[in-house]
Amino acid sequence: MGRVYNFSAGPSMLPLEVLQQAQAELTDFNGTGMSITEMSHRSKAYMEVNAEAESLLRELMEIPDSYHVIFVQGGASQQFAAVPLNLLGKNNKADYIATGNFAAKAIEEAQRYGDIHIAASSKAEKYTYVPKTFNFRKDAAYVHMTDNNTIFGTKFTSVPDTGGVEIVNDMSSNILSEVMDVSKYGVIYAGAQKNIAPAGATIVIAKKSLVDNPENVMAACPTMLKWSTQVASDGNSLYNTPPCFSVYMAMLVFRYLKKIGGVPAMQKLNYEKANILYDYLDESKMFSSPVAKEDRSIMNIPFVTGNDELNAKFIKEAAQNGLVTLAGHKIVGGMRASIYNAMPVEGVKALVEFMKKFELANK
Ligand code: PMP
Repeated sequence: MGRVYNFSAGPSMLPLEVLQQAQAELTDFNGTGMSITEMSHRSKAYMEVNAEAESLLRELMEIPDSYHVIFVQGGASQQFAAVPLNLLGKNNKADYIATGNFAAKAIEEAQRYGDIHIAASSKAEKYTYVPKTFNFRKDAAYVHMTDNNTIFGTKFTSVPDTGGVEIVNDMSSNILSEVMDVSKYGVIYAGAQKNIAPAGATIVIAKKSLVDNPENVMAACPTMLKWSTQVASDGNSLYNTPPCFSVYMAMLVFRYLKKIGGVPAMQKLNYEKANILYDYLDESKMFSSPVAKEDRSIMNIPFVTGNDELNAKFIKEAAQNGLVTLAGHKIVGGMRASIYNAMPVEGVKALVEFMKKFELANK
């Protein structure tokens, strides 16, 4: 079997040319006679990879110099704990916006460390929309939001007005998918395994003023979860052994993204892809989107037929046609097409063509 169109929510597709480059240099990286996975993270060759990955990410996202950029381990889930541990040191209060399962997990974790208030929630409507009004506390240390809700397929379309309180944004499933103004946030974090690289690295972009103030860090914060641990004058993210292969792959994906025109070009492609699928969902008599139209994600697109048997038949037959991993998350059922940066337009067109055929054949 050749390569399939893989609609996995993560880990997910990577650009083919990036995979091929990694394959070509897997046994001998840059004339070192060894693989990137075999060398010391203190070697010149790896330190250059680490520095280039950071500098390309800064360029692609236009990250101001007033922000630290670090690559850590533990996934976005580890940041659910790291966020309060790094920010609730002098003020124990934080506000959270509950827009999905991962937001709920972030809330549950933060509640172990501080006084956590839910400023808005769409839980009662099964997270099918993103709240537009919020009940923020003026004296919170930060507001936590989840930009794109991977399981439910919604996203924020504007930055909530917190009245000056710093925002911490989980961008795990939409980082680099469209142009974002980093300066609107105190902290952005994201696991690599959707839009960036294989699982392993987690990106944290945080205002220096927040990270460099030791008073913000809770006394109980473990060394490895402290963001300042990974900030160093001789190169960030090298305190201990980093997720070397994931950072290297991130560097290759960043180079690729820069080559195709950066985030603005990616954004254009992503809206084109999402519109192809949403336009069909809106006209189809069999398939529909369960999500509020104005809050639709361009990365994760859930859809249903309203009939569990038909859903199962669709998922099975789609896979036989090289369109794989289309089952919805187990807590929502139905189908979900995750169409991250590396999914080509042709993949979405092939999916819609198959859906049309399936609809005709199963009327
Ligand atoms: N936040 C969001 C929005 C996610 O989509 C995910 C993973 N699917 C996570 C957090 C958890 O990430 P990880 O598996 O890297 O801990």
